[in-house]
Amino acid sequence: MNNATFRHFINNEFVPSASGRQFDKRSPLDGSLLGTVAEGGEEDVRAAVQAARAALDGPWKGFSLAQRTELLYAVANEIDRRFDEFLDAEVADTGKPRSVASHVDIPRGAANFRVFADAVKNVPTEFFEMTTPEGRKAYNYSVRVPRGVVAVICPWNLPLLLMTWKVAPALACGNTVVVKPSEETPGTATLLGEVMHKVGIPAGVYNVVHGFGAGSAGEYLTTHPDVSAITFTGETVTGVAIMKTAAQGIRPVSFELGGKNPGIVFADCDFDAAVAGIARAAFLNTGQICLGTERVYVERPIFERFVAALKQKAESMRTGHPSDKSTAMGPLISLQHREKVLRYYRRAVEDGATVVCGGGVPVMPEGLAGGAWIQPTIWTGLPESSAVVREEIFGPCCHVRPFDDEAEVIRLANDTPYGLATTIWTRDIARSFRMGTSINAGIVWINSWFLRDLRTPFGGSKQSGIGREGGVHSLEFYTELRNVCVAT
Ligand code: NAD
Repeated sequence: MNNATFRHFINNEFVPSASGRQFDKRSPLDGSLLGTVAEGGEEDVRAAVQAARAALDGPWKGFSLAQRTELLYAVANEIDRRFDEFLDAEVADTGKPRSVASHVDIPRGAANFRVFADAVKNVPTEFFEMTTPEGRKAYNYSVRVPRGVVAVICPWNLPLLLMTWKVAPALACGNTVVVKPSEETPGTATLLGEVMHKVGIPAGVYNVVHGFGAGSAGEYLTTHPDVSAITFTGETVTGVAIMKTAAQGIRPVSFELGGKNPGIVFADCDFDAAVAGIARAAFLNTGQICLGTERVYVERPIFERFVAALKQKAESMRTGHPSDKSTAMGPLISLQHREKVLRYYRRAVEDGATVVCGGGVPVMPEGLAGGAWIQPTIWTGLPESSAVVREEIFGPCCHVRPFDDEAEVIRLANDTPYGLATTIWTRDIARSFRMGTSINAGIVWINSWFLRDLRTPFGGSKQSGIGREGGVHSLEFYTELRNVCVAT
């Protein structure tokens, strides 16, 4: 993987930046140079959008729904066939354990194409028979038409999974796309270009421009007037910037943004399942999952026991090389991100936290010492007003606090500007129904976490997002309804 060159993918060709500019991609494992990435500028974005527009008005328009979905199944099959290459690319970019990427990221990358190919084939349209004032028959119906060129802006935490979650429905609905992957994870988006080409997706339908956000490819793409709609996953503050640019031209946005998700554990829970579930929600992917929990509320009678058990889980997680089968946790995505997470680790101590475990950087073997490694960390004793409890950290850490009754925990859980997800652990069925509608979040998991049929709606409330994607719900964003009335 070392010394790879990641180029843009425009019109079915891999091309360098028009300016010749590129940037380094370093391994999160040890800081070594993985390769160089073409840095997209205005000219590259213009070329990609032009290619996407030409494909939209040209060859892609002629593909029937059946032909499009056949191609999407072929993309999924080709990802399966090149599974190991995708796995290598994702693991190289992110440093995550192979065991995680091979169970979560890559299979979901392929599944997204199948799920959306299935979904679009099963959407009914409306058809009404009418009579004109003169007594003639008229037929009024609606059709779904693609939005046009869709800009797809992605984060680095689940690169292939989140990118294909948007690309698949966009193409299924007949749009063309220009993808701007995260600057941290150029690999799988580039590889997907090869797959698209191989299976016969026409030139210009899937384009990739690498680069950064503000003042770079991300901004140029979202401000390009020929982009019809913008779908974005990333930080809430970036969503604010993108929404402003989307206002120019009145373009629709679909946003999957940040979260500060509560985990709630009642004393009547299946204790071991709850400990395991909260540990996964806090530490999986080194805490870099938008749906993860960084605020845990535990009913007082089991508080001490729960904290001790969670500590044991955290301390048993091995940090290490992705290929090592015993590795449970990889590094953070970069040294820069680690610095941000460590600022919160320090802030927790300043704000009076008890550090139950972790709190710093682990000692790693010599070859890995330069990587973005971090300890899984648990705190207790912080006031709810602390930035550590209020702001999204996006690291392997959580604050645990006791609560006394349902009303109190609902108030605490909802006291946040975010509303992405929650995980609740209880054996009381009536309570689980009450809680399911009391927490103001897009997704409520009861006795589970990160478990979802891909046909159900996914998205956040409040500052965690706009819109819902998933199954047929994605059609609301990736198509527009056109009303046609034919008088005979
Ligand atoms: P980020 O917002 O920093 O970057 C995301 C993407 O936006 C990158 O490709 C970046 O280059 C681009 N970008 C940055 N500024 C831009 C601008 N001004 N204009 C256009 N593009 C711009 O997010 P990140 O650090 O890559 O990812 C972590 C964040 O993503 C966390 O907040 C996490 O909660 C969120 N996230 C949310 C979900 C969800 O489904 N709600 C899923 C995964 C991650």
